[in-house]
Amino acid sequence: MPNILVLDCKQEISSFNPRPSTLEEFSILRGEDLFQHRGRNTELGGAFSVFDQRDDVTVLPTILAQGLSAGLLSASSWKTLSVDILEAVGARIGEADAIYAAMHGAMGADGELDPEGHLLTEIRKLAGPDMPIVISLDLHGILTDRMLRQIDGLTLYHTYPHVDFGSTGRRAAELLLRIIDDGVKPTIARVVIPALVRGDELVTATGCYGDLIRDCQRIERDGTALAAGIMIGNPFTDVPELCSQVIVQTDGDAKTAEAEAVRLASEFWPQRARMQGKLIALERAIAQARTMKGPVVFTDAADATSSGATGDSNAIIAALRKANYPGRVLAQIVDPAAAAAAHAAGVGATIKVTLGGAIDKRRFSPMAVEAQVKLLSDGKTRLETMKVPIEGGPTAVLTFDNFTVVVFSRSVFMFDRSVYYSNGCNPPDFDLTIVKSPHTERHMFDAWAEKNFNVDAPGSTSADLKSLGHTICKRPMYPLDPEVTFTPRAVTYQR
Ligand SMILES: [Zn+2]
Repeated sequence: MPNILVLDCKQEISSFNPRPSTLEEFSILRGEDLFQHRGRNTELGGAFSVFDQRDDVTVLPTILAQGLSAGLLSASSWKTLSVDILEAVGARIGEADAIYAAMHGAMGADGELDPEGHLLTEIRKLAGPDMPIVISLDLHGILTDRMLRQIDGLTLYHTYPHVDFGSTGRRAAELLLRIIDDGVKPTIARVVIPALVRGDELVTATGCYGDLIRDCQRIERDGTALAAGIMIGNPFTDVPELCSQVIVQTDGDAKTAEAEAVRLASEFWPQRARMQGKLIALERAIAQARTMKGPVVFTDAADATSSGATGDSNAIIAALRKANYPGRVLAQIVDPAAAAAAHAAGVGATIKVTLGGAIDKRRFSPMAVEAQVKLLSDGKTRLETMKVPIEGGPTAVLTFDNFTVVVFSRSVFMFDRSVYYSNGCNPPDFDLTIVKSPHTERHMFDAWAEKNFNVDAPGSTSADLKSLGHTICKRPMYPLDPEVTFTPRAVTYQR
């Protein structure tokens, strides 16, 4: 005793990605296979490190379902997935004394815009009213009222770019054990802020958002709060409760939890304009890049596969070609047909294909190229940060003119260098590298690039939030609407 049931369910979607996601985008692990996460910098890895130290704790591993970021999950895939998860939980619930669920929080399915809320509601029904449930979430998640009503407590990422996966799981496991061992009763105060934010000020090591997160960590450390954090949501997941929100938990002290949450929200609100993406026009960025010795990086946050974009934007490559940019360019793109053509032709062959524009047809047009097939791979690698496997499907490195393009079959995460390294490409060897992620860890690109241009390109995860066309999230919402007022008000939850 105690027996702790563990599950993991994560996906982050962009409502503005036209391609629905399906179960094919999910990696599923079952039962003992979840222990593959032991020693990894993941939430499960962190939680296992806590549970494994205790002779009296038995972990009941159930299911892990992690989806690639993409468009809204199809109704049939969601039905199959949710039934699968609830059956896996149901099969072990009779032995369980407590539950830890690692989630992301930015899922969305056709017909269910709060999938995590549905899962937690059904898990609570299986568990009964008294079994402790603690969850962990990405700070880009959307924590809903329905989720808050089911759980006893939660922990949130404190870093962006994210590096604290393991410590978030560890903190969740420790909170759960305090509930079980010490009778701690978390009171959760929530303050909803009607603002969506983006941009460099969110980088926690250097931005003003990081100062607020450090304040959350301070009140955790000094014992004022059991756990605290500020969620900013994934601004591309257009669901009813999309927002920014402050979450502070205390041991039964509603007054302190509310006061701290209101204080943090009051400090967040005046900084909302600073926390917006600052983009440079593509043509201006190319003109500046020409004058630099380099190497330079073009950040294509609008096609960030980890935020839910398609990854098939060729907008920057097309603009560089049009401008006759002379330097050596390294780029990444998702195009299964081009990758298949390269695999069919073989290394050394010259192929005529189109690159990009095959998925997000509204925003991008296929670009015809005559390219050499330099390298073929199976697209299998491991993320640098979390060391979890990624599967890009048949992958090819194509070269044409001054361009080297890594072509994937699937929209894998491109927020670190693994997708380049595993295909024989070293970014500093090029004059200009395109990275399809809003931010990366500093040592990966920024430390050696002469400049990183945050370019204004089209895409379903553009930092120009007004360009996207939100229709579902509650309004008014800054910066989507001109007049937004805010009076911080805390709502508390306790089981
Ligand atoms: Zn995130």
